[in-house]
Amino acid sequence: MRNKTLFLAITIFPGSLLWGQTYITNVTVLDVEKQHLIPAQTVVITGNRITNIGASKKLKPTEGATIIEGKGKFLLPGLVDAHVHFFQSGGLYTRPDGIDLRKYVPYDTEIEWVHNNMEDFLRRYLASGITTVFDVGSTLRFLRQRDTFQNKVYSPAVYMTGPLITTWEPSVFKNLENDEPFFEAKTPEEARQLVQKQLPFKPDFIKIWYIAAIGNNLEATARKYLPVVQATIDEAHKNNLKVAVHATERITAQLAVESGCDYLVHFIDYEIVTDEFLQLLRRKHIVLCPTLIVSEGYIKTFAQNLSFSSSELLKSNPVPLGSLYDLKHLPDTNLVKKYKLMGEREQLPGKKTDSIKMVNLKKMVEAGITIASGTDAGNIGTQHATSYMKELKVMQESGMNNWQIVQASTINGAKALGKEQQFGSITTGKRADMILLNANPLDNLDNLEKLDLVINKGHVIKPDTLIKETALTLVQRQMNALNARNLNAFMEPYADDVELYTFPNKQIAKGKIEMSKMYASLFEKMPNLHCQIINRIVQGNIIIDNERITGLGDKPLESTGIFYIEEKKIRKVYFIQ
Ligand SMILES: [Zn+2]
Repeated sequence: MRNKTLFLAITIFPGSLLWGQTYITNVTVLDVEKQHLIPAQTVVITGNRITNIGASKKLKPTEGATIIEGKGKFLLPGLVDAHVHFFQSGGLYTRPDGIDLRKYVPYDTEIEWVHNNMEDFLRRYLASGITTVFDVGSTLRFLRQRDTFQNKVYSPAVYMTGPLITTWEPSVFKNLENDEPFFEAKTPEEARQLVQKQLPFKPDFIKIWYIAAIGNNLEATARKYLPVVQATIDEAHKNNLKVAVHATERITAQLAVESGCDYLVHFIDYEIVTDEFLQLLRRKHIVLCPTLIVSEGYIKTFAQNLSFSSSELLKSNPVPLGSLYDLKHLPDTNLVKKYKLMGEREQLPGKKTDSIKMVNLKKMVEAGITIASGTDAGNIGTQHATSYMKELKVMQESGMNNWQIVQASTINGAKALGKEQQFGSITTGKRADMILLNANPLDNLDNLEKLDLVINKGHVIKPDTLIKETALTLVQRQMNALNARNLNAFMEPYADDVELYTFPNKQIAKGKIEMSKMYASLFEKMPNLHCQIINRIVQGNIIIDNERITGLGDKPLESTGIFYIEEKKIRKVYFIQ
């Protein structure tokens, strides 16, 4: 009998016996469902679950437990980015259907790069406090790769669809086999087969790309494709899979919702939504992810009018971010000019779609529609992980308050996939995915970046230990900051006792302060300063960049920089001119 009791105890609470417990004490917990703060709480983690919550006065740590003092700090559920794409890097070459630059970077090269960097992106998400991401449109190969991260401590939980089932497929993506992000369905039968085709790869849900704005008559096209949409939804639901739909017009959104879809992954930006439409969303318990910033990413890139915050320059993967500046020097000037004009046209003040988006979001929030935060990261100009704060800021500009935004970024994300029993709030029994902040995010949304600890799958992690810094990331980062003319971000990768020389041994600056003064005046005097890498050699802790610099004088300057990296900082630079 005694043995049986012990056996039961082990099966119910394996963590407490095998891994020990963690107590976060005296902390203020954010109850994201009821939107209120609960001070002086103790939260108990056993294994990968939250196993108890109570007043710190009463709930005392057991002997041998790990204790995290939470006094003065704020505990939230881990954040959810409810709309990302790992098949896209956020860089310039990632959507050849948007801008075709395959003559400079073949699409195959881009595909390999995103696969090789999925781990890096996951680490950056977690370092930003994002413990769950939804990839709403992926490839069969990425579904396989998703499985390899399932138990990794550094990885957020990844929920992923297979390729987007679409009524129209851009030709550049055709015949890519397991790397194809779109599956085109012409008939309802084909749509069912394409859901079936994904099943062996175990998608977490199904995504439809409902594109109707091709011909002149939007509504007629939308209705023509409706049977394909209905068949996809029906086949997915038969297999217990929820369905997310890309529908950016009121009519496609309405038809998708009426057909029983679960999650709308974009906004309606062509018309102000009616009360009738809002009632439909509410009646059908639709979750909507507005993705407010993604179009701006394209526009600013094309118009060559990029603006990244220091935090984006420092924390993004620097390779795709850096590529966004390439339009300034690509040889096909006609193409570049055409896109620049297009971007500039979209940037004219008072552009209609922007204000429609804002008004619609406010109307939806007031009507009680469940809004989930998501960035559409991976698209040109929208960086993985670091675009999240940008998205939240625009939600705020639309009139959502901080509580509503925190809710949209946690529990509402979970609701989009019907996973609210598993994560999204600090509740006994849920996954121990939480963030501990040094300041209250309800006072100021920026405090979401004041991360003390990330708790992922029950593991307690210092966020700054997550990202793997290399010689390449340091050198690329300072170059990006130079092109952005952001002095703080530019100086960050340099050591305090950095030394600059003209080759071989003439010292031109010593120490960060002197160097910083030198570049401050350069940035000020040369507003068009732009640096392009012609050739780069990476050898251990040395990087040799052959650069072409424009904006310094009449003619471009060719220069070679030899960067020595020591203890994860740039310690010496030699310039050959
Ligand atoms: Zn998307």
